[in-house]
Amino acid sequence: MNVITTIGEIKQAVNNLKQKKVTIGLVPTMGYLHQGHLSLMQKAKQETDRVFISIFVNPAQFGPSEDFDQYPRDFERDSRLAQQSGVDYIFYPSTEEMYPKGFCTYVGIKKLDRIMCGKNRPGHFTGVCTVVLKLFHIIQPDIAVFGQKDYQQLIILKKMSRDLNLEVKVLSHKTIREKDGLAVSSRNQYLSPPQRKNAAILYQSLIEARQMLQKGQEIETVRKKAWANLQSNTFVDKVDYLDIRDAQTLDQVIDIGQKNDILIAGAIWIGNTRLIDNVVLRG
Ligand code: AMP
Repeated sequence: MNVITTIGEIKQAVNNLKQKKVTIGLVPTMGYLHQGHLSLMQKAKQETDRVFISIFVNPAQFGPSEDFDQYPRDFERDSRLAQQSGVDYIFYPSTEEMYPKGFCTYVGIKKLDRIMCGKNRPGHFTGVCTVVLKLFHIIQPDIAVFGQKDYQQLIILKKMSRDLNLEVKVLSHKTIREKDGLAVSSRNQYLSPPQRKNAAILYQSLIEARQMLQKGQEIETVRKKAWANLQSNTFVDKVDYLDIRDAQTLDQVIDIGQKNDILIAGAIWIGNTRLIDNVVLRG
């Protein structure tokens, strides 16, 4: 496994592989790898000849009062796990390498960045799109794999890829969960033991909401019930959002009678930790 920190060197490695017609799969991450990340790497491995991952805590996607400084980092551990998972290249750039002095070009997405996670995280998806587009240009992958856990991010990146005519195929992979249903996340380690015990309330509420929809209950009733359910847990300090939307377009859904897949997604604060999750009701 190769660890490369500069854009020049990784481009060189990519060019060598491209000349040999070797296909490339990319898994962008912010590190502190867990089973969710590893499952994306396995998928990339099944689909392509060489797997690249990037480990980069991207400052552009964090707001000024968010957890950029505290975000967990452990490169030694990450590289061990990546090697065990059969990763071929880790791209591990510094902030200066990705955003040199004077950097001022950003990729924005309209409308979709104002809803759900974007509502209270202004600029977040601009930061995500910018770094991912840079990674796509630098590594020129044939496929890139993203988790359904960050569902809105996945839809936005698929849209960016289509809108900007990128060659890369954006693939998704299911959410990996702990035994009690909590979606695995690098941020789960912020939770104290009692907070951790209660954190599965998010997934449970989403599942319950899906069951209510399946039984034909009204969307607004279901939304309110799930919201109240979350709020009734003493460890949940705030419900950021609980949305029921079209799973392809992320448009608000009014009538459950439609045949499309329906996304039920939410974000909550447990203490200083923001957790997100979603489930899909197949149409
Ligand atoms: P992150 O390091 O949090 O930026 O995540 C990197 C990639 O891993 C993103 O595509 C995430 O959607 C994906 N991911 C994060 N958690 C999970 C999970 N529990 N299951 C599957 N994929 C995940």
